[in-house]
Amino acid sequence: MSVPLADAVDIGRAVSAARRAFDHGPWPRLSGPERAGYLKRLTQALRERLPLLAQLWTDQVGAPASFAQKLTPFGASRFDFFATLAEHYAFDDWRPTQRGRACVRRVPVGVAALIAPWNATFPIVSQQIAAALAAGCTMVVKSPPECPFDALIIAECAAAAGIPPGVLNVVTAGREAGAQLVQSRDIDKISFTGSVATGQWIQRAATDRLARVTLELGGKSAAILLDDVDLPAALAALVPFTMPFSGQICFAQTRVLVPRHRHDEIAEAYASVVARMKVGDPHDANTAIGPVLNARQRERVRGYIERGIAEGAALVTGGTGNAGFERGFYVAPTVFSRVTSTMAIAREEIFGPVVSILPYDSVDQAVEIANDSDYGLSGSVFGADGERAFDVACRLRTGNVGINGVEIAPNVPFGGMKRSGIGREGGREGLEAYLETQAIFVPGAAA
Ligand code: NAD
Repeated sequence: MSVPLADAVDIGRAVSAARRAFDHGPWPRLSGPERAGYLKRLTQALRERLPLLAQLWTDQVGAPASFAQKLTPFGASRFDFFATLAEHYAFDDWRPTQRGRACVRRVPVGVAALIAPWNATFPIVSQQIAAALAAGCTMVVKSPPECPFDALIIAECAAAAGIPPGVLNVVTAGREAGAQLVQSRDIDKISFTGSVATGQWIQRAATDRLARVTLELGGKSAAILLDDVDLPAALAALVPFTMPFSGQICFAQTRVLVPRHRHDEIAEAYASVVARMKVGDPHDANTAIGPVLNARQRERVRGYIERGIAEGAALVTGGTGNAGFERGFYVAPTVFSRVTSTMAIAREEIFGPVVSILPYDSVDQAVEIANDSDYGLSGSVFGADGERAFDVACRLRTGNVGINGVEIAPNVPFGGMKRSGIGREGGREGLEAYLETQAIFVPGAAA
């Protein structure tokens, strides 16, 4: 299978088509319920293609089949959610004023550029496209070259649903074309999910013309295990989220904070769960850990493991080996204990199957360690006393926190504080990220 690599001319044509469809086409002028009708038909077409999309997640970037099959329906649930929201959302409301009343309208922000990373392209572009369509935007989606098919399949479903031409344009392209898209004066809004470095570049590029920007960036999320934690239950709920898809997921709970007096017991129990995870071919239904994306990423992850050892962390399981595989970019699932906040493995996003266990002496110190990070994307708190766990969760400077588990839901905003990003995708907040507010003052009697 092959896909075209878009060049500057293709990007220009896609942007012009989206601009024309926004300025002169019907889409931004339809009512919320009318757009919802199209979105529902699109979702139906998408559901028929979910097995193919799951298969493609594995084929393109090596996501384990069990992981891909479980998470692919989340993409379709995004379209369901935004269809229902568009149907019921109050795009206009009236307010009394001194001279009469004002209509406060939420209008589409314009032409959106939607840029996604390779690791979870389908759920991420689904969330971006569904919200932008619900809001009445037109758009150019830039697929990552490593994972180009997902957005093309959504575009096929949009055409099947009768969404007018020019509304949803997809280009499969790399960095240069992405940069051209971001810099185009016809783009009013950029929604970017990816690395901090690219996010910073995009923010700067958008500044001159004050284009609207949503950034979903990296993470170094902490799971705090409180001293009353039910360990077997906590490990069962937590471990799959510490190195999902070989740790190549932004909200992976890569720092596990444990009471010092239970450190050795938890480290041992944790490592024994990790040691039982099947490493292997991502197409095998029993595989929990597959390869990482490519040789460069494998070397990067190995570099962090070497730094962890050099900085004095205790290697509990794993290491720099290739997990027994001659071929493929495998890294053995690796757990470090006795990690401190100053070590690179506790500070930097590794994007590989590497987890750090950090001991703490008090709950206050646990909160301090969790917040001692440039990132603020996700986190979790595990403990028997739900109220206490909730209080600890409220003290974390991150966009999302799970109690006794990790969860993402279509109706709840997702995004980060600090260097993990700006703005939110998902939920009502995710729709509003694609809307501008306009007030029209009407003289006469208040309604
Ligand atoms: P990346 O920043 O290298 O690339 C992301 C996308 O941006 C790709 O489509 C790429 O082609 C494009 N791109 C690169 N340079 C560009 C430029 N100058 N202008 C426009 N587009 C450009 O990131 P990646 O390696 O693909 O993804 C991994 C990163 O994504 C990790 O840091 C991870 O934490 C983050 N991520 C965040 C979330 C979230 O929701 N917060 C979700 C998944 C991944």
